[in-house]
Amino acid sequence: MFDVEKIRQEFPILGIQVNGKNLVYLDNAATTQKPKSVINSLVKYYETRNSNVHRGVHFLSDKATTEYENARSNIARYINAEKPHELIFVRGTTEAVNLAASSYGEIAVKAGDEVIVSYLEHHSNIVPWQLLCERKGASLKVIPVNDSGELDIEAYKKLLNGKTKIVAVNHISNSLGTINPVKEIIRLAHDAGAVVLIDGAQSVQHTKINVLDLDADFFAFSGHKMYGPTGIGVLYGKEKLLDSMPPYQGGGDMIQNVSFEKTTYNELPYKFEAGTPDISGAIVLSDAVDFILSAGIENIANHEHEILEYGTAKLREIDGFRLIGSAKKKASVISFLLDGIHPYDTGMILDKMGIAVRTGLHCTEPLMKRFGIPGTVRASIAMYNTKSELDLLVEGVKKAKKMLL
Ligand code: PMP
Repeated sequence: MFDVEKIRQEFPILGIQVNGKNLVYLDNAATTQKPKSVINSLVKYYETRNSNVHRGVHFLSDKATTEYENARSNIARYINAEKPHELIFVRGTTEAVNLAASSYGEIAVKAGDEVIVSYLEHHSNIVPWQLLCERKGASLKVIPVNDSGELDIEAYKKLLNGKTKIVAVNHISNSLGTINPVKEIIRLAHDAGAVVLIDGAQSVQHTKINVLDLDADFFAFSGHKMYGPTGIGVLYGKEKLLDSMPPYQGGGDMIQNVSFEKTTYNELPYKFEAGTPDISGAIVLSDAVDFILSAGIENIANHEHEILEYGTAKLREIDGFRLIGSAKKKASVISFLLDGIHPYDTGMILDKMGIAVRTGLHCTEPLMKRFGIPGTVRASIAMYNTKSELDLLVEGVKKAKKMLL
């Protein structure tokens, strides 16, 4: 059984006070808080196992290497990848997309080709593709969204053609919470001969991921949004694609042999992991995965959905409340505006009440322009949030309205 109070006890930071009030943390789409098991694992790593990987014959190096590779296998199982070496450890989603755009883009895209993204994308799933298109003389096409914040799949079908080489879309929108029909998006792209990258930054922590069932070519995510540490993330790629790609960065570990005349490269995944990786980050991310598994990803999804529905319904009762993003399928994000009030001002007043929300463009400037708004106030939900926290948010929003209008 999912017991939210028990879960909350695992997160020390949830006990702190902010501005004299109990913290209400609703900025989980930006980053989640960390459970004790993750924090303790990080300390334990540096106290008992710290060493460099893949380089030493000594006890500690062997131990660190084994745990680093075990972490890869565990995380591979979590997303149902066929082979652990299809997971490349990177700094986060941003680096994962840049790796795919630079390396796969290099061999797949030429002048006149097209890359498709969507209006819902985070800047980190727009700009790397834009840079690629500029380098190659290719063009960037954009799947439109309707007024509810859902992708227009009919328009997407019309964008696909023989020139489409890559489609890059997110699984769940960080700004609106829209759950995109990624399986269908991938199937349609494959029918057109294109390869698909799914930005899973907002889905790995909320829903079961099965990269095989999705048939995703690339899948990117960040550790810090799934109860793990900052500085670690994953690019999953199908072995065949990763094998065909040139290295992204040069340095130690990614080579087989080096001479001044010619260097040969290491096998997967090391070909893409130049230099000393974030060893502790990978190991601790695996602990974060175990934490999610112990709570149960379906339990988490159900709990968060209940909180989302509850909070949305309560907020909708407030006069002048405008929900931005009302997709039929939504996860864990309530983005909104109050008539006549700038989102930043609402956020400042909520902060005085100990409530952490995000305000602004959420790194989705084109999407905000599409809706003709200066940004939103975004409350984003994680497994440890409760209905009473959403009640406090509602109270805070009412107070902000009273003070600012
Ligand atoms: N994509 C989405 C959908 C995101 O929400 C984020 C983080 N806000 C990113 C990409 C970038 O992730 P990171 O900053 O961890 O690289």
